Amino acid sequence: MIIVWFKNDLRLNDNTALIEAIKTNQPIMCVFQINNPQLLENSKSQDYFFQSVQVFNDNLIQINQPLHFIYGDTEDSFDKLLTQFPETKAIYTNISERGYGLERDHLIRKVAQNHTVDFYGFMDHHLIGAHELLKKDQTPFKVFTPYYNQWKKLAKPAFQKVDLEKFKHLVIQRQEIDLFKEGTAKLKELTENIEQSFNTNLKQVRESYDEFIDNRLEDYPKDRDFPSLNGTSDLSKDLTTGLISIREVYWRLVQHAPESDAKQAFIRQLCWRDFYNMVYAYNPDAKNLEIKSEYRKINWRYSEEDFQKWIDGETGYPLVDAAMKHFKQTGELHNRLRMVVASFLTKDLLIDWRWGEKYFSEQLIDYDSASNIGGWQWASSTGTDAAPYFRIFNPTTQSERFDPKGDFIRQHLPNLANLSNKDIHKPNDSQRQTLGYPQEIVDHKFARQRALEAFKG
Ligand SMILES: Cc1cc2nc3c(=O)[nH]c(=O)nc-3n(C[C@H](O)[C@H](O)[C@H](O)COP(=O)(O)OP(=O)(O)OC[C@H]3O[C@@H](n4cnc5c(N)ncnc54)[C@H](O)[C@@H]3O)c2cc1C
Repeated sequence: MIIVWFKNDLRLNDNTALIEAIKTNQPIMCVFQINNPQLLENSKSQDYFFQSVQVFNDNLIQINQPLHFIYGDTEDSFDKLLTQFPETKAIYTNISERGYGLERDHLIRKVAQNHTVDFYGFMDHHLIGAHELLKKDQTPFKVFTPYYNQWKKLAKPAFQKVDLEKFKHLVIQRQEIDLFKEGTAKLKELTENIEQSFNTNLKQVRESYDEFIDNRLEDYPKDRDFPSLNGTSDLSKDLTTGLISIREVYWRLVQHAPESDAKQAFIRQLCWRDFYNMVYAYNPDAKNLEIKSEYRKINWRYSEEDFQKWIDGETGYPLVDAAMKHFKQTGELHNRLRMVVASFLTKDLLIDWRWGEKYFSEQLIDYDSASNIGGWQWASSTGTDAAPYFRIFNPTTQSERFDPKGDFIRQHLPNLANLSNKDIHKPNDSQRQTLGYPQEIVDHKFARQRALEAFKG
């Protein structure tokens, strides 16, 4: 028997590990491990993920092939599983190339070895894997553009359809044992009290992506920076859970969209995803350590009060506050707003980027460790190919440029809704008082100078 271990690859089609397992013609047991050390309290990213797991399982139940859930500490739960099923010959899984996922794969590989079970890991989550593209001297790229110039020349892996009939034939029926009952009960506990209902329907995701390609791609380069417009694909959360494969995203675009600058601009964004995966793989400490060593001694501020105001959207800067209130409520945040609020936290408030990265990791429904660390180290100027430290966003100017009529602000800060297009970006003192809107937590000019000095050291 072969165990196919599902993780953030919640689909049957174009699932490399599953397709390879089917090729062996061995009986297959589909397993999902709820990994105790990774569980969080009050986390929208976790809510979204487990709701997606539940929907995936519901879909499998419909074809009578439910997942087998195990729950517990990383090695212990697999040890129990392999003890219970000594007929297991191999574990097939799609691996992670960096961070905690990589560590966990190593641990389970060892457990498998102890049981004389083979472990086969497949690179599935990226178009070009972390170790597939290096500079001529075999060292990793540090700058995005030369990486992208080589990346775009490489052949991309094909989309593979799963042989569903063969899968149904090979997959073993549900095993009613305590180990799995415990796992299923844990999934129920994790999902039953989720207030927000997320859309994790593959058919709808495909329709929405096709609609993006047909109608919105053309304007992507100019619309993608405006949070009040529906200018981007909205695919990141479904790529994170693996509801849709990156190969499907790539080939649907390549095959259906005519050649254009907009198409290339979108492909370039997909490349950032691979770039940050590679950067994290070669900088395994990047979650806690600045990639640029010259910025490891910055005298960050650790003001819990200011940090909480940032989280609650009470900074007195309307675009920052609208973004953060919306984010707290939904777990979603437009890319432009991620840059604005991350810059505000790390430059205007001079608060350690690690605090922001951690909050995002718990709150973002599309949370992906490599992209999140990449984004935070970019915004705080500490990462590879990051924004230079002296490029400090002015939150008011960003608001005027990217939300010119204040549409986004009006939607999320209704008490400011009646201000003019000019005032909404920076209400005056009496407007703030009348509307109950806070004073600016920090003066931008002062904060800018403070950040420049902190970075110069
Ligand atoms: C501080 C900060 C934190 C971030 N954290 C994450 C995160 O945890 N998870 C995540 O997926 N993205 C993250 N990003 C990148 C980016 O904000 C999102 O990928 C994007 O907003 C997703 O929206 P979309 O799918 O509509 O993107 P589109 O513009 O439609 O882009 C298509 C796809 O390209 C990829 N992509 C686009 N921009 C980037 C980028 N800058 N870096 C990496 N991949 C990119 C994504 O997979 C995205 O789905 C972060 C950016 C910043 C500045």
